[in-house]
Amino acid sequence: MSSAPSTNEDVFDEFLSDRGHETEIVRWERSYNKLQCPECGALHAEGSTRCGVCDWRPS
Ligand SMILES: [Zn+2]
Repeated sequence: MSSAPSTNEDVFDEFLSDRGHETEIVRWERSYNKLQCPECGALHAEGSTRCGVCDWRPS
């Protein structure tokens, strides 16, 4: 592991997330009657499909 260049680790991470189906599904957090972006914490109206602040969207 210690001999692997860091760039290979990045590619490996991407490979893992591309496979996708076993990773945890990320959804909006709930804050009162609003949806909260788990990335940046911005609040959005019910039914929002992506964060207008950081461009995150539920997977
Ligand atoms: Zn966000």
